[in-house]
Amino acid sequence: MILGILKESGNEKRVAMLPGEVSVLKKMGIEVLVELNAGERAFAADKAYMSAGAKMVERNEVISKAEILLAVNPLIEDDITSFREGQIICSVLNPVKNSKWLENARLYGLTVLALDMVPRTSRAQSMDILSSMATVSGYKAVLAAASLLPGFFPMFMSAAGTIKPSRVLILGAGVAGLQAVAIARKLGAIVEVFDVRSAVKEEVKSLGGKFIEVEGAKEDSAAGGYAVEQTEEFIRKQQELIQQRAIAADVVIATAQIPGKEAPILLFKETVHNMKPGSVIVDLAASSGGNCELTENGKSIVVNGVIIIGKSDYPSDMPSDASKMFGNNIINLLKILVDKEANLALNMKDDIILGTTAVHGKEYVSQRIKQMLNIK
Ligand code: NAD
Repeated sequence: MILGILKESGNEKRVAMLPGEVSVLKKMGIEVLVELNAGERAFAADKAYMSAGAKMVERNEVISKAEILLAVNPLIEDDITSFREGQIICSVLNPVKNSKWLENARLYGLTVLALDMVPRTSRAQSMDILSSMATVSGYKAVLAAASLLPGFFPMFMSAAGTIKPSRVLILGAGVAGLQAVAIARKLGAIVEVFDVRSAVKEEVKSLGGKFIEVEGAKEDSAAGGYAVEQTEEFIRKQQELIQQRAIAADVVIATAQIPGKEAPILLFKETVHNMKPGSVIVDLAASSGGNCELTENGKSIVVNGVIIIGKSDYPSDMPSDASKMFGNNIINLLKILVDKEANLALNMKDDIILGTTAVHGKEYVSQRIKQMLNIK
């Protein structure tokens, strides 16, 4: 099989696979074509890819020769006819946002594997790019907040007096939120956490955070472990408590999301106005609307002395390790996508392949994507 790795466009610094992971593919018997300069911004030189056994070629050659194309971000910018019918595209997809492109890809006969749709099961954990990228985001969000905060995170007892530890409020204890709890605790802050899923209570506690419970949260086992939209009564109760805790906090890290929907607004304008000047809000849900009413995606703004960072692309700011994790996730996925002779074998009886395949053979495949796009 021939696999192609494409260079990312825009501000993206990651690459789908680094040379170290390319050498693993070579050992699996897979030929690798890499677009010239693809790893440049992740500090991976063309020479390193060549030493790992890859061929460096122009973009159009990668696209015309590879059976499977790898990228980090959706390849929606490209003219669909530049791909070949039956070619496999494997990247993050954002199926709701890119539904028109997906429909074109289906009609054209592409097979699209959506890395953001890998089922969240134990067996699929090693292929889960959402988890690995959320780990980077949670880590970076805390470091960004700590470096902007006008005070220390830990308690300090020195000859110059005692400094109180900072208080960090974390909204949403998924993968990014739990990572943020761990890092903020390591830096010595007092950490409080809100989530609608009671299952995370013990995890928060074990990391040294305090879980603030709001009674009456709606949970749905059919949502596959994800959060669901809440009742008005719950939202009102949660609002009051979040407002109270945010006013006492120095840092808020907001990570709450609902797959396929706008992120819930948890921090309202009035709450921000009541926060201490010098406080920092990092809104990781910015690209899906943000958890803070005032968040502007891709921007840092200051409101009444409170800094609000709307940023969902921290993984791109840590391109070496983020690309390494991304590539490792893909290798683990490829292990179930190719047979012993290193030929592609899309086995639709495998729940991971079935859940990850957006379109194949001119049909929609993934049930979750069909639900998200209202396709019968
Ligand atoms: P996510 O990015 O979809 O959401 C982040 C967090 O925000 C979630 O914990 C969610 O419950 C919370 N949230 C949503 N609405 C909220 C609200 N109104 N108020 C407060 N909190 C709110 O989550 P994620 O990090 O992608 O993880 C989602 C689920 O997948 C979790 O159950 C996680 O444990 C599970 N998971 C499983 C695996 C696996 O087994 N392979 C891997 C990773 C994650």
